[in-house]
Amino acid sequence: MSGELEKLISGKSDLSSVRQSAKRHPDLKEGFKAAMQPVVRLVSEGFRKMRLKKEKVRTFPAALDEEIEDIMSILSLIDEEITPSDAITMTSKDFARRQRLTSFLEKHSKQTHYTFQLKKCTSANCNVCVLSPTRLPPEVFDTLSFLPDPMLDPSGEHYLSFAELYGKPTTEADRPSLKQPTQKSETDKKRKQLLVAAKVRDVISCGECRKPRCIYAASKLLAEEGGAVTRAQQDGTYVCGGHIFAEGGRYHDKIVTKVDLTCASPVETQYYGSVTVAFPDCCFHCGTLSNLLEQTDPYILELRQSYHTVRPICSPCHAGGKQASTRGPTNARKKIRKI
Ligand SMILES: [Zn+2]
Ligand SMILES: [Zn+2]
Ligand SMILES: [Zn+2]
Repeated sequence: MSGELEKLISGKSDLSSVRQSAKRHPDLKEGFKAAMQPVVRLVSEGFRKMRLKKEKVRTFPAALDEEIEDIMSILSLIDEEITPSDAITMTSKDFARRQRLTSFLEKHSKQTHYTFQLKKCTSANCNVCVLSPTRLPPEVFDTLSFLPDPMLDPSGEHYLSFAELYGKPTTEADRPSLKQPTQKSETDKKRKQLLVAAKVRDVISCGECRKPRCIYAASKLLAEEGGAVTRAQQDGTYVCGGHIFAEGGRYHDKIVTKVDLTCASPVETQYYGSVTVAFPDCCFHCGTLSNLLEQTDPYILELRQSYHTVRPICSPCHAGGKQASTRGPTNARKKIRKI
């Protein structure tokens, strides 16, 4: 990249500010793209070495502007005032202002935390679906429903099966990550003896919030059990509040995670107090391993004068107003000793 172009992007910390600048300086777009190629190649090669459930990860080149415009031109069928170039730069606010588009999505889509689903309608008055009517026989098409949301059975402990929910109205209320940690779950109560720091054997990251959640087992994991845990860790489907091993399986009650957790719950204290395995320090609030406040940080130093335990906190969480979690005020101990 020429010195001239480098000057243009110096101090720009994200792509949208580079894009803004490229609008005023047309050379910047091509220059920036060319300069990024080796990085893009390297990241792409890195991903291609990875596997998910034994399948190789594939990478694709970014869509060209013309390809994006082609796709976006479909939107003009719904609202003829939307041009492909509008569509590319549209923000969600602009989107909400487009009445035809929003009413189309209301009638034809289901948008949830997990999915975005579209389904044609069979109304003769729908100016979009009449252009490409359904091809399935009507009696088959009518049986197709949107995928249901996960819902709990009346006990509140188990999720209903797909077959029990398909075609029925569902809501996101029982989404595992939204489940409120109300009264301590019966399951955790029953496992009270197991859910202690001395029985932490490993951790698993939540597929949604990425926080590490402790894996508990009464005794050290055997090779076979360790293998099952590794597969669960790689599988990436574990979510806070869920079970690491499915109901009915041999490990379901033997190798467990706390179920009285949501993605909003902080890292478990057992993580820090683990006896058999030592885990790296991570932020108590968000679980990140990076950008933790140093032990020499004045804020931490001050807390350490008053508390025995000061849990790690990352600077973004602290800057966002969160406080470090502390335990055991030293003053209280001194007072006790004096007595
Ligand atoms: Zn329609
Ligand atoms: Zn989570
Ligand atoms: Zn944090």
